[in-house]
Order: sequence, then structure tokens, then C-alpha cells
Amino acid sequence: MPELAQQILDWQARHGRSGLPWQGVRDPYRVWLSEIMLQQTQVSTVIAYYARFLARFPDVVALAEATQDEVLALWAGLGYYSRARNLHACAKALVSEHGGEFPRTAAALQNLPGIGRSTAAAIAAFCYGERVAILDGNVRRVLARLFGFGQDLAQSRNMNALWDKATEVLPTGDLVRSMPRHTQAMMDLGATVCTARKPLCMACPVKMHCLAHRQGREEDYPVKTSTLKRRAEAWWLLLARKPQGDIFVVKRVDKGVWAGLYCLPVYANREELARSLTAAQQAQLHEAPAFTHVLTHKDLRLHLISLTWYGRIDPDHPKDTPGRWVSPSELSKLGLPAPLSKRLML
Ligand code: SF4
Repeated sequence: MPELAQQILDWQARHGRSGLPWQGVRDPYRVWLSEIMLQQTQVSTVIAYYARFLARFPDVVALAEATQDEVLALWAGLGYYSRARNLHACAKALVSEHGGEFPRTAAALQNLPGIGRSTAAAIAAFCYGERVAILDGNVRRVLARLFGFGQDLAQSRNMNALWDKATEVLPTGDLVRSMPRHTQAMMDLGATVCTARKPLCMACPVKMHCLAHRQGREEDYPVKTSTLKRRAEAWWLLLARKPQGDIFVVKRVDKGVWAGLYCLPVYANREELARSLTAAQQAQLHEAPAFTHVLTHKDLRLHLISLTWYGRIDPDHPKDTPGRWVSPSELSKLGLPAPLSKRLML
């Protein structure tokens, strides 16, 4: 579809986003980092994290040599921590198996930890000009609307069919040289024009080809039935603080919510938390109003219970999470999960 590809490129040159710190970059380390950070996180949030991360880990070797705690601490607040763990694992694999260099094709990039098909394609297109399609959430929406693609994207065969559509709109002939800009254009279209709600169709360079627009049913696409049922879960967190300010934290297990992060000790209910304390301590507890933290698959109701700790032994806490006392300044460097660091005002 050469006409469509040209229109998308012309639009990007005039109206696409510019000035984002990772734009125009051909360094695969930086492209990879931005792509991973931008999954599930807003551009405005990512900008500061991206700068801090690069200042601390300027290249893949520096990242590979870091400890997981250091990486998670810099990631704290971005959420979806498996991204940080995979990033670290991928950096190690790049150093141990590829001499610290990124493979130069999307097919090879996809074999690395945490690099999916779309991220691999973005790196290969931006850095090496490979003619390969991306299909992140924004691009899915653009293509589903453009082609009036009404099949359920929760099914992999339908998703594969949409990948074929993404490949159909790639530049051909001389325009293949513009693969980095085409890739940027597709991202920009989804982020700024073909938005989830109230897309700006009048400003869209492909409106004359767009089936959803012709039907006046833009927001009916894409179709995705949710395969996940949301669950609600309640956690009771003990904020034990010594008179001089040290706080007791635990390192969470490597699976599940906030895996590998430092956190307050978690109990399944108030009774379990109270059982870990003496009668005198139980009488001193202070419970803050509970609040809800929304995760992808569940709503976490968090009850924060605090206590000034005069005891000589540590709080009795779940055994699979080793604990220790940390000073307020150390705590601010550890990278607690965002809802907790906000509450503790770190
Ligand atoms: Fe999206 Fe509207 Fe453009 Fe269609 S015309 S691709 S719905 S912005």
C-alpha cells in the first residue's frame, strides 16, 4: 500500500512528535530501554526515569554488572516490575552471549529475555532500518480501525491476522529507507490522533482509507474480550518504626506482586498481623485509612498499621521474606513500591 505508507510518512514529518529524548536515537540500548519503559507507562512519567536510568547505567555492560536491588530501586514507581527484572536478565544475556552487542535482526532480538515481537521489531527498525512491523497497543488500535478489523484480539489467530495487516502497511520500494520514521509515525498516530477515546479523525492522514471512520464506529475497534477476571485482595502492612526513625522492611519473594522489591511486612488479615505482636504492642497500633492500589489483574486494598517499636527482637513476619531495619535515608534509596513510598513520604 505505497500511497498509504507515503501519507503516513508525510504526516509524521509535519505533525509527528519530536523532541522526546529517545527519538532519532539509533543506539539499540537506548531504544530498548525506552520501549520497555513505555510499555504500560505514560510518556510524561517515563522521561525522568529514562534520564535517571541512563545516568546510572549508561550502557548494557553497566546494567549487566548492577545488582538486581539497584535496578529495582531505580525502577520503583514505574510499576510492572517484571520489566525491570527482564531488563536486567537481558543485559546479562547480551554480555555473556553476545559480547555486549545487540543482535541486528528482529528475529534474533526476540530470543532475548523480555523482548517480545513488537519490541524486537522497534529496535530492528529504528536502529538497523529492518523492514519489520511493530504492533504495540497503540498501533493495534490504529490498524484495527483502519481495516475495520472486528475479530477478537484475545485470540492468537486473530492477533496473527492483525500482524499481517501491520506488515501490509509497511513502506515498499525506495520508501523502505524510511523504516525508522514509518515506525515512529505509527506510534505517533496511535498516541496523538487515533486515541482510545474520541480519536481526532479529521486530523488523521489515513482517514480516507479508514473503514471504522467510514462506518462512524471508530470506538468499536479493536475488539478484545477480557480473558482476565479482576480480583480483589486485601493486605495488612506493618509499619514498625524505631524511636530514632529506622523502619523494618522485608524483601519480597521473586514472584507475584512487587516481586523482589523491599516492602513492609505483609499479613493476610488484621488478626494475623496482631498475632505477630505482644499484647502491649497490640494496644499501641495505629491504623491509617485503607486505600486501594489498582494492578492489572487485581485491586489491592492496603491497610497500613503503624507502631513505634521498642522491642529488642524483630517483628515476627512471613518467613519467606527476609527482613531488616533501615534508616530513612537508606529507605529512600531502596525503591519501595510507589504507593508505599508516597504514604511514607520518601
Ligand atoms: Fe483512527 Fe480516525 Fe484515523 Fe481511523 S480515521 S485511523 S479511527 S484517527
